[in-house]
Amino acid sequence: MPFSALPRRVEIVEVGPRDGWQNLPDFIATNRKIALVNSLAGCGFREIEVSSFVSPRAIPQLRDAAAVFAGLQRSPAVTFAALVPNERGLAQAAAAGVDKAVFFISASETHNRENLGRSIGESLADFAAMMARLPAGMAVRASISNVFGCPFEGEVPIERVIWLLGKLRGLGIEEITLCDTWGVATPSQVYRVVCQVRDAGAEVDLGLHLHDTCGRALAGVMAGMQAGIRRFDAALGGLGGCPFAPGAAGNLATEDLAACLAAMDVATGIDLAALRRTLDELRQVVPAAASHMAAFWDGCRH
Ligand code: ZN
Repeated sequence: MPFSALPRRVEIVEVGPRDGWQNLPDFIATNRKIALVNSLAGCGFREIEVSSFVSPRAIPQLRDAAAVFAGLQRSPAVTFAALVPNERGLAQAAAAGVDKAVFFISASETHNRENLGRSIGESLADFAAMMARLPAGMAVRASISNVFGCPFEGEVPIERVIWLLGKLRGLGIEEITLCDTWGVATPSQVYRVVCQVRDAGAEVDLGLHLHDTCGRALAGVMAGMQAGIRRFDAALGGLGGCPFAPGAAGNLATEDLAACLAAMDVATGIDLAALRRTLDELRQVVPAAASHMAAFWDGCRH
């Protein structure tokens, strides 16, 4: 049985500074954050999720979002994105010069209420208000969490995901990321869900955000590529464990993904040597940032 043709190029969106760092208990100094994001920008990413304009009480680690944005070396080649939860956050993001706002909603009603403190319907109403006030030139992506399963509700019906995509598309949001927040998706499930969403006729730019809680994220990327996905989130050092799975592995590690794709001749535009240097820089600040490639690279030194 032949291995299906791989794409020539995919995009890796680096989400570590937002998703990977948000739950770290020790505050990373603002100047270290700025240096790390600038280093990441030098690795060749076209897009980096830098921070969140949420309440400082909700996520103290990211309370310096505006200051971090002020310190970035801007380049037309890199889109600097931030999570924006409401109109207040949107105004702050606009003032900070955020290139792309990321809206979050859950495919699970219980998770939406637990995580965002409102119903799915209320989140959609908020998005409509934010789209009406979107500053000129600011792009938007919506990320749907718990598409592949929910710690509260278990299985999430595909019909609800397709319904949500239609609602988001109706608001004018054309870039949408399907997230396995819990990290439970199997590769065959990733393939099936992406195909079902596409078969439903959703005319959107789809991406995948996979957590490695169960060690399946990289396999999920392979399945996603087979289903036509060309954009994947990842976090340097594999940071960002699921709060519902204490001790679990975090996001898919950027270095694992970039190195695997490079070895298969799938272009990402990422400079692996620069990525390795940035991982070393990150590990000086966050020693927990250690994934498979980190161990491999460390081994190569001896
Ligand atoms: Zn995540």
